[in-house]
Amino acid sequence: MTRLVGVYGASGCGRGIMPLLRAELGGSEGQLVFIDDAPQADRVNGHEVWSFDRFLGAPATSRHAALAVANSRVRETLDRRCTEAGIALIGARAANIVIMDEVEIGAGALLSPFVTLTSNIRIGRCFHANLYSYVEHDCVIGDYVTFAPGVHCNGNATIGDHAYVGSGAIIRQGMRIGAGATIGMGAVITKDVPEGVTVVGNPARPMEMR
Ligand code: UDP
Repeated sequence: MTRLVGVYGASGCGRGIMPLLRAELGGSEGQLVFIDDAPQADRVNGHEVWSFDRFLGAPATSRHAALAVANSRVRETLDRRCTEAGIALIGARAANIVIMDEVEIGAGALLSPFVTLTSNIRIGRCFHANLYSYVEHDCVIGDYVTFAPGVHCNGNATIGDHAYVGSGAIIRQGMRIGAGATIGMGAVITKDVPEGVTVVGNPARPMEMR
């Protein structure tokens, strides 16, 4: 019997998380596999790709999964599926991230290399902070929020559940980003963004549908 750890999602996001978990778990006893519901291969980057049922059925002393899918709605569904099956969430943190004082982070956060979280920050469940993103002081971030690489989130910002912030976006201090909002790549947020709205550009404006 062994400790089983799965990276759920064997695509781009999962392949970026697997090496972080492997480094964190080091030589500790256990097996590290991908879990995928529509696998493209039996092995990916040296790790077996298992179905959810195989992961659940294999003899193990404990089961943990990192939810490595960028789509936040999928993460929420997988979170529920894992919780109901008794699989605990596991987070992953690159060795070189910086986390300062009084930072509360919910279960399952995936923090990629060069991420910085400064002080007095609250973050919900299953946060993804991709390469080089930062979160400055006093921000409050909801559940299932996704930062693509290089997000600059300045202090006192509030970000609702399921918001997606594109690569290189800059969020001005004190902004409020509503739940389910999408911030386009490189957008500069100088005004609050309402729930569910997609904004793009500098200064960011709601995207016009053509
Ligand atoms: N996936 C899954 N279960 C789901 C939804 C997605 O196993 O309910 C897998 C899917 O088969 C794919 C990966 O998660 O291998 C998502 O990959 P994608 O390239 O869409 O996005 P990313 O890796 O960037 O999140």
